[in-house]
Amino acid sequence: MRDGDVVLKSSSPRQGETGLTEQWGRVRARLQAEVGEVEYRTWLKQVALAGVDGDEVTLVLPTRFLRDWVKKEYGELVASLWQAENPAIRSVDIRSQPGRGTAPNLAEPVPVEAAPAAVAPVVPRADVAAPLDQRFTFDTFVVGKPNEFAYACARRVAESPATAGFNPLFLYGGVGLGKTHLMHAIAWELSTQHKGGGQVSVAYMSAEKFMYRFINALRSQSTLEFKNELRGVDVLMIDDLQFLIGKDNTQEEFFHTFNALVDAGKQIVVSADKSPSDLSGLDDRLRTRLGCGMVADLHATTFELRISILETKAERAGVDVPGKVLEFLARKITSNVRELEGALNRLVAHANLFNRQITLEAAHEVLHDVLKAHDRKVSIQEIQKKVADHYNIRIAEMSSARRARNIARPRQVAMYLAKQLTSKSLPDIGRHFGDRDHTTVMHAVSRVTELIGQDAAFGEDVELLRRMLEN
Ligand code: ADP
Ligand code: MG
Repeated sequence: MRDGDVVLKSSSPRQGETGLTEQWGRVRARLQAEVGEVEYRTWLKQVALAGVDGDEVTLVLPTRFLRDWVKKEYGELVASLWQAENPAIRSVDIRSQPGRGTAPNLAEPVPVEAAPAAVAPVVPRADVAAPLDQRFTFDTFVVGKPNEFAYACARRVAESPATAGFNPLFLYGGVGLGKTHLMHAIAWELSTQHKGGGQVSVAYMSAEKFMYRFINALRSQSTLEFKNELRGVDVLMIDDLQFLIGKDNTQEEFFHTFNALVDAGKQIVVSADKSPSDLSGLDDRLRTRLGCGMVADLHATTFELRISILETKAERAGVDVPGKVLEFLARKITSNVRELEGALNRLVAHANLFNRQITLEAAHEVLHDVLKAHDRKVSIQEIQKKVADHYNIRIAEMSSARRARNIARPRQVAMYLAKQLTSKSLPDIGRHFGDRDHTTVMHAVSRVTELIGQDAAFGEDVELLRRMLEN
């Protein structure tokens, strides 16, 4: 038995028609991980599997509106996840079928209500590559402090691939911070360039896809073709490399491909959720080589970046979103850009659907569940501690009766932050501060609000504290 056969048996029960429901389960799970909890719950939870016919999977949604939205926003993603899950699937048909919820019922035939355009093609652009998202270009990427370095590196690589010092380019950062966006942007940019008359050939794929392709090649005894195909490209990009942790055979293959390409003067771009040195479980030689070029991280977003992303996206969508609403979203949804985008999309869709203005009230209402999930569970004790530390007073002073300004002011700030950052009532907050009355808390909140407006330095101080507590 060859090595490859072992790989197949152990990690590929996903082939074959029998496990369709299980395959769908895995596609859903990937989808959820890919788009985040908020978007998944908003748009994708209701997608049901209707069946498979030859190489086409049919998915249904209860309304036309949902169908159109899902098709437009997620069609390609769903299709590529299906293909990664089951390479025999070539396309995904998304239809609306009133009354169909999430429960998959394979026996039931699907009445045809779908427009012909409801088919999302899976066919990749080039044979080796996965399709690129048209929205992910340098133009649409909003640059700010947390991502400017990664952006500059990506630009540089797109301008002149395989420059010394920038090969490989290793992009890393948490989910939804723009790694895939930047990689696609590089690929788009390069695909418009020409090299000695011919087009620069770029292969972009997720590490997962790389693995599936490798396994398929092993199974069909075409590893040589696979290798040649990959080694024939000018630029190879592998997204989410952390997926290869524990997949030793695939890692080994990637390592050889990597070396062959770099030796031949080709560019490699890799992304992962951690820096090369933190990717424990990845082969040491590979880690070392990955760290040899340029390593750039995408930091968590700042309030400023979130605002400018929201502004840009709202403008691009051609919708008028009041500044107050943008600010509200940027304050509340701090996890990542994907969730932020999801919340904005949802708000816009809701406004369109009901033909209503986007207001702060509407935002509260529409995003109710999202906001609840994002409400940081910061405790009053944490707030008291941070504030006491910051102003250099003892934490016991938060509950003491002393009224000296240098004690009373920090106490008021803590009360203010408790009101802002927790869902506790005024009397409840009062109790945590030496059993003070709720009117005292109310007074503290309005006093601090007033001071923030009057004294910029004080305002910055409070903002800083808020940020520290939110993260
Ligand atoms: P990652 O690959 O790091 O998980 P993505 O690149 O998929 O994240 O980004 C998630 C979503 O957020 C995408 O829709 C992407 O376009 C958007 N996004 C992330 N960062 C930015 C940015 N700086 N400007 C505009 N959109 C961004
Ligand atoms: Mg990604």
